[in-house]
Amino acid sequence: MTGTDTTILRISDYHASVTTLGPGKRVGIWVQGCPLRCPECVAPETLPMSGGSIVTVNELADRVMSVTDVEGVTISGGEPFAQAAAVGTLLEILSRERPSWTTVIYSGFTIEWLRRRGDRFQAELLKYCDLLIDGPYRKSLHAPLKWRASSNQRLHYLSGRIGAESDDGSAGLQFEVSGTSSLRWIGVPPVPSFRPGFESALANQGFMAVADGETKNE
Ligand code: SF4
Repeated sequence: MTGTDTTILRISDYHASVTTLGPGKRVGIWVQGCPLRCPECVAPETLPMSGGSIVTVNELADRVMSVTDVEGVTISGGEPFAQAAAVGTLLEILSRERPSWTTVIYSGFTIEWLRRRGDRFQAELLKYCDLLIDGPYRKSLHAPLKWRASSNQRLHYLSGRIGAESDDGSAGLQFEVSGTSSLRWIGVPPVPSFRPGFESALANQGFMAVADGETKNE
């Protein structure tokens, strides 16, 4: 699998109903692998280019399209533009089969970098993106912002199909009990270093925290 493979995608996680990573209720897909190394990345388990699970784009598209009652899909990671050809193929299918859905993509690359230095697959992927949330995480700039973790990260409403929101405050975190002893959270922590403190506090109570993007064996 390479960044030019249009048929196979390596993903870290999937969730059919995410409410904290873009407007409304969305299917969430976390890809596996990121070439960047932001200090204190909140999802370090998604960084290796190996790991996660391999799916065909067609299988994933069918799974996503079986979901009803969502506004669209959010692609996070990991770095979606590191698998731009496959992600682009997935979104091409969804744009054809679910034309009313919108697409949110997270990227550690800036939009300027993607436009100037991105390859043709990355340029194509941008065309399917209604809202791009760009830029690397910077802990020193951590802030409780809408759908993003640090103030250098920006919301680019590329198509006009998603309207800018007047409230730029944190969308909070989505929690759900998973099994009998784990608590899953999805979203952008409004405070820095949330994850280690939260996981430690839960561990003291006999629970295990599972973050979005973290591969699970349940
Ligand atoms: S771009 Fe995102 S996934 Fe990659 S290292 Fe930075 S915070 Fe982590």
